[in-house]
Formats: sequence, structure tokens, C-alpha cells
Amino acid sequence: MKRTPLVAGNWKMNGGQSLVASMATALAEYQGVADVVVCPPFPYLASAREQLPAAIGLGAQNVSDQAEGAFTGEVAASMLAEAGCGYVIIGHSERRALYAESDAQIADKFAQVQAAGLIPVLCVGETLAEREAGNTDAVVCGQLQAVVDAVGVAAFARAVVAYEPVWAIGTGEEASPEIAQEVHAALKRAARKEIDTVALRVLYGGSVNADNANALMRMPDVDGVLVGGASLEALGFRQLCAQVAGSV
Ligand code: PEP
Repeated sequence: MKRTPLVAGNWKMNGGQSLVASMATALAEYQGVADVVVCPPFPYLASAREQLPAAIGLGAQNVSDQAEGAFTGEVAASMLAEAGCGYVIIGHSERRALYAESDAQIADKFAQVQAAGLIPVLCVGETLAEREAGNTDAVVCGQLQAVVDAVGVAAFARAVVAYEPVWAIGTGEEASPEIAQEVHAALKRAARKEIDTVALRVLYGGSVNADNANALMRMPDVDGVLVGGASLEALGFRQLCAQVAGSV
């Protein structure tokens, strides 16, 4: 049986106070069974927490790999907890590619997030070249394993993994449900190989919208979705959440 699905909206560096307000209004009427998490940029976290219904989770898009101190411009996990976050996206492919985040740094961030009592959403995903070379499973399981090696697989009982093929992010070309299923199953197998008591919760991300969410959610190992572009319009996002909720 599937667990409660999760929909997380990653605004990236978009939105503002008006989107916070319209999202709060739209989600006030959301009654579905799916867990919903909204991830605005740092400056909007506190006001989003104030305005969103209590049942809607709040997430940050990044965090420091350090606990506190002289790290100008960084934001600690404990600060995100104080701002009302319950989740933090880490290892997004944009951060890996544009800010050269390494697996080791991502593992440190994962540990910081959990030490603050928050849930990491660890993103993994292959590039098109890696897929075409037949290396998808090796790449995504390698990204997972780097964190498992650092923190232990048991930590994933309080974490979420998001499979986000780089070629599907922001391109309008989502992975087929079959591809998503195949990779999610490989990730879950990899975790079970380490310890079979941890049931990994794996989201799919990459050009998800209200039209394709249902087909993805029908796959047995797709436990929810991480949504970029389609999380930037409040009513559309609520519709997407309702689609996902209706899929269980
Ligand atoms: C993302 O960047 O996490 C993402 C899934 O983006 P999009 O839905 O726009 O492809």
C-alpha cells in the first residue's frame, strides 16, 4: 500500500509577497490527503509560515553545511527551524551544477538539517549524457550512497529523496512514468541493500504539472512529486495537489 503522498513546490528564485498571499488563500481550501510543502525563497519563509494554513508544510531551498559562525551570507538549519520550516531541499541539480556543490557538502547539509529536527529532501538525478551512456542507476544510486556513507541509511527514515532527472527539469519533457518507476525502484533497492527496515520515500521531479501528475502517481514507487514551474501559480498548484491526493 502506498504511503501518504507528498507534493513539494520549489519556487526557486521566483515569487514574492503576492505569491505568498495567493498561495495561502488557495491552499486554505485544500482538503486533500496528500502532504503539501511550499518552498519559497529565504526572505519569504517567515511570512509564508504566518499566512499558510498550519497543515501545509514549509520548506527552504538550501541551507549551510555549518551549524553557526563566521559564514557570511549562509543560513543555518536551526534558523530555518525557527522560521517555521519543516523541510529543506538539498542537492538540487541547479546547486550541484551552478554552485559546484559536492556530494560531501550535500551530506554535511543533510546532517545539519536533521540535527535541527528538519526533514531533508535530497535531490538526485542524471544528465542526458549520463542517461544516454546507460549510467542512470549508477549516478543516482551513487549520489544517494554518498549521503548514506556519511550519515547511515537509518537516517533516511526521517528524510525524503527526490529523483529529478536533469534533462526533465524546466524543459517541459517529464520522464515517462515507466522511467520514473524504474529509477525509484532502483533507489529503494539500493537503500534496502543497506538495511531493509528503511522504506525510502521517493518523489519524482521534472516538468510535473496537473496534466501528468496522475500518470506518474499511478506508479507503485512514486510517493509524490517535487514541482518547480507549476508551483508558481496558486490555483494551478492547488489543482495539482488535488490530483495527487486523488491518486491514492
Ligand atoms: C525543480 O527544479 O525542482 C523542478 C522539478 O522544476 P520543474 O518542475 O520546473 O521542472
